[in-house]
Amino acid sequence: MMLLMVGLFSYLGAKLIGLCISNLLLAKFRKIQVDARHIPDLPQAEVEQFCLTQQLHRETAERQRIQNELEKSLSWQQMTLESTTDGILAVDTQGNIAGFNQKFVQMWCIPELLLESGNYKQALRVALKQLKNPRQHLDTVRESYLKPDIQIYDAIAFKDGKVFERYSQPQRIGQKIIGRVWSFRDVTAHKIAEATIRHQALHDLLTDLPNRVLFNQRLSESLVQARQNSSKLAVCFLDLDRFQTINETLGHAIGDQLLQNVAQRLSKCLRAGDTIARWGGDEFTLLLPEISNIQDAIHFQEQILAAFKSEFYIENHYLHISPSIGIAIYPIHGEDAETLIKNADAALYRVKSQGRNNYQFYQSKINSQALKLLTLENSLYSALEREELIVYYQPQVKIATGEIIKMEALLRWQHPELGLIPPGKFIPLAEDNGLIIPIGEWVLRTACTQNKAWQDALDLPSLSVAVNLSARQFGQPNLVGLVKQVLSETKLNPQYLDLEITETIAMQDVDFTRKILNDLGNMGVSISLDDFGTGYSSLSYLKNFPVHALKIDKSFVCNLTSNSNDAAITTAIISLANALNLKVVVEGVETEEQRNLLRILKCEFMQGYFFSRPVLAEDATTLLKKSKSQRVSSYLENKTDGRWQMVDGRKNFSSFIVN
Ligand code: C2E
Ligand code: MG
Ligand code: MG
Repeated sequence: MMLLMVGLFSYLGAKLIGLCISNLLLAKFRKIQVDARHIPDLPQAEVEQFCLTQQLHRETAERQRIQNELEKSLSWQQMTLESTTDGILAVDTQGNIAGFNQKFVQMWCIPELLLESGNYKQALRVALKQLKNPRQHLDTVRESYLKPDIQIYDAIAFKDGKVFERYSQPQRIGQKIIGRVWSFRDVTAHKIAEATIRHQALHDLLTDLPNRVLFNQRLSESLVQARQNSSKLAVCFLDLDRFQTINETLGHAIGDQLLQNVAQRLSKCLRAGDTIARWGGDEFTLLLPEISNIQDAIHFQEQILAAFKSEFYIENHYLHISPSIGIAIYPIHGEDAETLIKNADAALYRVKSQGRNNYQFYQSKINSQALKLLTLENSLYSALEREELIVYYQPQVKIATGEIIKMEALLRWQHPELGLIPPGKFIPLAEDNGLIIPIGEWVLRTACTQNKAWQDALDLPSLSVAVNLSARQFGQPNLVGLVKQVLSETKLNPQYLDLEITETIAMQDVDFTRKILNDLGNMGVSISLDDFGTGYSSLSYLKNFPVHALKIDKSFVCNLTSNSNDAAITTAIISLANALNLKVVVEGVETEEQRNLLRILKCEFMQGYFFSRPVLAEDATTLLKKSKSQRVSSYLENKTDGRWQMVDGRKNFSSFIVN
């Protein structure tokens, strides 16, 4: 580039000076022509006269040819000078303007008359006013006078954002320097493009946050500072819980907007000097340099969790999303960038496996646990294929009659080495990696097939089955179609299928939930809100959702008899449900005392270890048979006032207990 510029400017400089010389020659030849017309007549020697005339003609013709050549050359040179995209200015050693082209006038916005007057000082004054750093330009001009043979190549910035590349070299005739040619090229667009490319290389295109590269750069710099100042810094890994569900349900365009909104909210939590970067997908990393203690980091995490409390409103969707955050502190949890990032990630993994929407600091034990989870996740891929998954069933009992009215399907994983793994250990993993979709479909099909078999074989036509749906399952495209297909394949009447979703899932996107629940309801399938009381418990939404039952979470039941608050909440939920015409099921009933108290609180349906633990299908068959025969016998014994009643429910219920 530089060489090209040097070549071009030498050429243009030579042309410009050549132009002046051409003008001089042309004037001289014109004079000779005029003189030739005045050669006196010499009559004494006709021959000589003739020869002279001939010579004169030849000379005149030659002069004419030279004049034409010069005019042509002059025209070419002028054209060349004007056709370059560079602005060119030639100044002689006395500081007078010797020439300039139109491009120079346009680029510098200096009045042409001023330039034609040759007053370089005046023109320079106009030029300086436009520059960001006029002193620097003036120094360069001065230097060019002090060292007339230097070449200058640099860039000058204008106040309005323009950038010119500047090249200057002395002009010589022979060895003598006769002036200097300045040449300017507008490289503003090029500089902007360069800056954009530099920005893009270090920033995420979607959110415009710093990317991994810039984050790592800043982390390395901050670590140097922290080492020097013996201060602490925090590295946080933040992941959005169940973001994939939103992406899959509402599409990537909404997912992208959500990420942009999240980026904005997170940015607002930062102090000056903090960095938030998009690590990839729905993962963000945060760098908090200069934290004075762990409490600072805790305070910051609380702020982040609070920032996610209110919903995001995107294209008519109210979206609830929560973050999980893993934190590693320098120098406690690692001394170099790589270790800190790895440990923050391990802490995040732990938050995820323990229920999400929270933060945790790294603990050295985590790594082995994360490794275990990773191994588990890998073998989960083949669990379905190798038929290691099993559906257990837990009865739901109608207290008034003691009959099992429903069986809840609860998944287990019979791992070849680790034994029976509860769903809480592997469903979050399956949810994250998407395996929950094929697994959930398999559970639905197995449970419906089993229920239909029980209905037919045990003559229990109104027995229902409940199947749990995770967030990703609920958001999967064509859930309604899948349910319809499974029901038709298994020939189970839709009214005997109950789908359980949690409040958190229901509240993720209220409009979407309402639509899906309506479609399922129209098909005849019933819906229960699982773990009720632990999530949003947004009562105002309850009446809008076509829900059939509330399942009060077991956490309220365990302290029911000792904690008056839990009893009060349970009572309130039961009366609320009654007012809204919803069925109430209390789960986690473990003791007789709890059962009795719940009966007083007018709870009609119960589920829990007191009646039976979740059991294999064969054991559930035994329970159903028992329930049926005992119910019939107790009915026969206790019919009063035209209603079947059980005198000693306790006897019947305890006889269900398995394990
Ligand atoms: P859930 O749907 O609320 O199921 C009730 C959980 O409480 C079950 O745990 C059950 O074994 C346990 N439980 C029942 N009675 C008692 C009791 O008296 N005391 C105590 N302490 N616990 C009791 P489990 O089977 O470990 O399931 C845990 C959660 O895993 C379920 O909670 C459900 O959300 C999820 N899950 C289970 N199976 C599936 C499935 O097939 N698909 C999906 N998406 N989630 C499932
Ligand atoms: Mg459930
Ligand atoms: Mg539950």
